Amino acid sequence: MSSLPASISSPQSTPLDVLGQVFGYQQFRGPQEAIVDHVVHGGDALVLMPTGGGKSLCYQIPAIVRQNAGHGVTIVISPLIALMHDQVGALTEAGVSAAFLNSTQTFEESSALEKQLLRNELTLLYAAPERINTPRMKGLLASLHERGLLSLFAIDEAHCVSQWGHDFRPEYRSLSLLHETFPDVPRMALTATADHLTRQDMIERLKLEEAREFVSSFDRPNIRYTIVEKTDPTRQLLRFIQTEHDAEAGIVYCQSRKRVEEIAGMLEAAGIKAMAYHAGLDAKLRQQRQDRFLREDGMVMVATIAFGMGIDKPDVRFVAHLDMPKNIEGYYQETGRAGRDGQSADAWMVYGLQDVVNQRRMIDTSEAASEEFKQVMRGKLDALLSLAEDTRCRRVSLLGYFGEASQPCGNCDNCLNPPAVWDATEAARKMLSCIYRVQQASGISFGAGHLMDILRGKTTEKITQYGHESLSTFGIGADLAEAQWRSVLRQLIAKNMVRVNAEAFNTLQLLPDARQVLKGEASVLLRQQALAAKADKPKRGSKTSVKGLVEATLNAGALERLARLKAWRGEVAREHNLPAFVIFHDATLRAIAEQAPQRLQDLEGISGMGTKKLQAYGAEVLRVLGA
Ligand code: ADP
Ligand code: ZN
Repeated sequence: MSSLPASISSPQSTPLDVLGQVFGYQQFRGPQEAIVDHVVHGGDALVLMPTGGGKSLCYQIPAIVRQNAGHGVTIVISPLIALMHDQVGALTEAGVSAAFLNSTQTFEESSALEKQLLRNELTLLYAAPERINTPRMKGLLASLHERGLLSLFAIDEAHCVSQWGHDFRPEYRSLSLLHETFPDVPRMALTATADHLTRQDMIERLKLEEAREFVSSFDRPNIRYTIVEKTDPTRQLLRFIQTEHDAEAGIVYCQSRKRVEEIAGMLEAAGIKAMAYHAGLDAKLRQQRQDRFLREDGMVMVATIAFGMGIDKPDVRFVAHLDMPKNIEGYYQETGRAGRDGQSADAWMVYGLQDVVNQRRMIDTSEAASEEFKQVMRGKLDALLSLAEDTRCRRVSLLGYFGEASQPCGNCDNCLNPPAVWDATEAARKMLSCIYRVQQASGISFGAGHLMDILRGKTTEKITQYGHESLSTFGIGADLAEAQWRSVLRQLIAKNMVRVNAEAFNTLQLLPDARQVLKGEASVLLRQQALAAKADKPKRGSKTSVKGLVEATLNAGALERLARLKAWRGEVAREHNLPAFVIFHDATLRAIAEQAPQRLQDLEGISGMGTKKLQAYGAEVLRVLGA
């Protein structure tokens, strides 16, 4: 944290110079350049960019350029104390003077930092939102402001300010202090969440009405989306990992802590390096496991949604959902953690009727929420159901949800393996009228299992008890298997014709939209679930893992150099107590291995090789290569 930015970039450095000199990249990506330019000149900005899009540089480069021009420090609000150390470590490695202020520091450490700040020696300061509202921090900000040393506020994960977002954090509300107390300091808010309601709320709460909005395409073309029917989730997951992602890093999301523990245990028993992570574990253990996930190769993290925000590991090769998330925003943010490095990655989910029922119940029975809130949440869940049941390109549906038009992608399950569609109008009508008749005959509603028994003409105890074998709908659906009925029911729920009443034992009730089908005015086309079994078998047999593919293109000499470079990187990372990718990304090492540089100049211009890293590691790299 000692070197000053001036040593690697001068007051005359343009944003493009800084990109090359400090970060070792040759070009801005997408809208980065326009954003950086706007913020460098003191404009306020709202940045909506998908995970992995490159948001960090959007504030880091303005921070450096503005510090060089004498504007002082950029304060980065980041919700995750646990990751600040690595973020600051990555900047320090690149030669940028950065630090964090959080509750893990001693009074003396904080005081030393405050002095550094007042001497204008820092370019970026990371702080958690709850920190901003403390008297000490308010005093510090005021002193900096008085001296003209408050350059910029960058609010990362800004959707946390909105209760409509999926990660509402009450402490973000205190950030209104920033614009109220320091209205003249430029502000930027960054998020990967783009739904309309959250965006409006964010703009209001952070007072960004005047800010320029930068909305990127939310497409992540390197991610392959797959949603399959849940039949035997544990086995399905195991097969998916073993056939597609052997020894690769991934995240598996489950809904409950118990399930997380079970699945992690199951994977371990099957010889896969896996760990559990959820809010029920103590903070120290969580931190340890997160560190291992970031630092070790090929680790699978089985987690609740408590895990993942701010995780910037670039080489996560898959994100699997064993249970359905609450909404598309959550799904997209979670799956977006795969493939930040731009190499191919999988977003894979299994889902079933039980997921739908569970999620409904959680919304309906949540006591804290208002009816208005529940209504919004139901709408969001319905949108996710429709995505899961959709027969069109997943990407087209996903992007469409965020208001973006696109063409079928060729890289999702529906594009690669178009699902057959069957006319389920008749089946839907049978199911709907069965729900209706049962309710009429018994005066109460029943759950899915019982209704399917009636349709399929099964004589169970319950059927006899209620005399349901005498209903006109008894046995009218014997031609379809139970799995097909489940699919019909799920899709009727997704299409808002049936609701699962969580307040009454998950019983099924008709909704007004059912009328059209009952009256024969609308038809229902459904995914052919029989295909799910086929899609489930080891597909793309020819597809080697990404790692395999990339490394296969290197010749034997290069492969051997790459192995040596990785071993060396591992040692450096351990010494510095940082994840390996903070030292160099895989892509950078690969480029070095391929080019077999002989002299320091040969290393210049390799993507990811900034000036500071060249100085610090160039000679070492050549030594490792035996040049
Ligand atoms: P986000 O915060 O939007 O999820 P990051 O800021 O972590 O994304 O960036 C994702 C990855 O892309 C990082 O590994 C980063 O180094 C890399 N990256 C960002 N911008 C560029 C660029 N212009 N050229 C090359 N790589 C980039
Ligand atoms: Zn597609």
